[in-house]
Amino acid sequence: MNKVIYLDHAATTPADPEVVAAMLPWHSQEFGNPSTVYSLGLSAAEALQEARETVARAIVCSPEEVYFTSGGTESDNWALKGAADALAAKGKHIVTSSIEHHAVLETTEYLEKRGFEVTRVPVDSGGLVDPEDVRRAFRPDTILISIMHANNEVGTIQPIAEIGRIAKEAGVLFHTDAVQTGGKIPLDVDALGVDLLSMSAHKFYGPKGVGLLYMRKKTKITPLLHGGGQERGRRAGTHNVPGIVGLAKALELAGARMAADAAREAPLRDKLWSGLEASIPCIFQNGDPEHRLPCNLNVRLEGIEGESMILMLDMEGICVSSGSACTTGSLEPSHVLLAMGIPAENAHGSLRMTLGRSTTDKDIDYFLEVFPPIVARLREMSPVWCDRCACKQRN
Ligand code: PLP
Repeated sequence: MNKVIYLDHAATTPADPEVVAAMLPWHSQEFGNPSTVYSLGLSAAEALQEARETVARAIVCSPEEVYFTSGGTESDNWALKGAADALAAKGKHIVTSSIEHHAVLETTEYLEKRGFEVTRVPVDSGGLVDPEDVRRAFRPDTILISIMHANNEVGTIQPIAEIGRIAKEAGVLFHTDAVQTGGKIPLDVDALGVDLLSMSAHKFYGPKGVGLLYMRKKTKITPLLHGGGQERGRRAGTHNVPGIVGLAKALELAGARMAADAAREAPLRDKLWSGLEASIPCIFQNGDPEHRLPCNLNVRLEGIEGESMILMLDMEGICVSSGSACTTGSLEPSHVLLAMGIPAENAHGSLRMTLGRSTTDKDIDYFLEVFPPIVARLREMSPVWCDRCACKQRN
């Protein structure tokens, strides 16, 4: 097979070879259970502690505030269900946004079925939450806010620090889903003013199936998983030592490369957009033009479906996405784009390109060579595309 041009780094990233090397000994040579007291277990426990300290340095917290999980989905579920259960006697109202990842969205829907009430604040046309809307949503019985740091589809970065200040003033617990920002932009939990923060290793060149929940000291939250006394009795289950070592290594590498990666990816992303805009009529950018991740470009094209573009690009060896990885395959238009006010028929024609460490200038040139003819071909076949009626909608 020819080289694959991978432009879907928001879905997942390849584990860095250094990460894989760091993980290897913990699978078979150093296989001890870190909860045991003999030397083999103790060396695993030491590796765990080192990983905890690495994470703590990266997000500026203390190691005791880091809890390892199986990934972003578990961290989000735990933060929301755990806080809701712990605080139910105080109140049953939760504030979140209308563009959260399904891991948060569906958890809030589940909590609604259990009698909690949820206010979903709107976003503007770029996908930004207005912190004042969060303030206005507060009620005396509000117990939790959950607003994501950066959106996984359009890359818009939310004003988390401002929302954090509002949450603190009101004395309301604040969770952010930082799965798309972890390892990509600097994170400091105090500067952000969050009490709970979710991250996932496979988004920053670490292994799949491992993540973390940062939990500020004294935060009231019930366990999601019951069993052994791991993670200070708050998250049961034998530790995934290789995964946790890999997560920490990946975060350390990401910290060292963060500025250079962003400085390389943002101009490539901008080149991609200028090239698309110059060669394809009726193409628009989704997401906030200013407050956005350096690696994300999300576009919509009139008259065609995201799925057909993905399949034709795949035939040319290019991997892109039409929404989040989890919504790809579903025929529902993205709830994120709908919340941004994009009509359903245009939301269907959206495409997400997310650049990463492997992306080269040549990849962008190749994409710009093959994509415009694909669009032209699909539009020729499209029953809803006509040159006369096109482009009524502007950014
Ligand atoms: N939150 C966001 C914003 C994500 O993008 C994802 C994954 O796409 C998740 C949560 C789920 O993370 P995981 O794949 O580690 O379960």
